[in-house]
Amino acid sequence: MSTSYSVCNECVVLNKFDTDRSGSPICGRCKKPLPVKGAVTEATEKGLQRLIESSPVPVVVDFWAPWCGPCLSFAPTFASTATRRVGTSVFAKVNTQAEAGAAQVHGIRGIPTLIIFHKGKEIARTSGALDQSSLDRWLNDGGRAMPQETK
Ligand SMILES: [Zn+2]
Repeated sequence: MSTSYSVCNECVVLNKFDTDRSGSPICGRCKKPLPVKGAVTEATEKGLQRLIESSPVPVVVDFWAPWCGPCLSFAPTFASTATRRVGTSVFAKVNTQAEAGAAQVHGIRGIPTLIIFHKGKEIARTSGALDQSSLDRWLNDGGRAMPQETK
């Protein structure tokens, strides 16, 4: 399966796109390029909210910042995992420096933080950069393999 979902950062509409197709996917409504690199959406605060609420499959979100070394070293792992799991989950990144509101809404206290959302609700979160096998294990178990942060 190579169909994934993204949200246009211009008109904030959910879009379906084919990750196998070359070139940037375009928003079906406003024709602007979707904020997609590979299979990962670079979401704004509003775009993330729409994606969480309207994606038919779970959404895995990486909250990161450009000044965070562990975030940068984790990025390739996240990107390749997104490509391998197209069809089963949607992957998105939120730059918490540019989108401070999104970090606040989701109570992000350290980065990188990963959150899995399903049907509009948070179902799991973990903090700190994971290696490939830990990330796969966490995703396979729907986030249950890692100790959960207490609220
Ligand atoms: Zn659009």
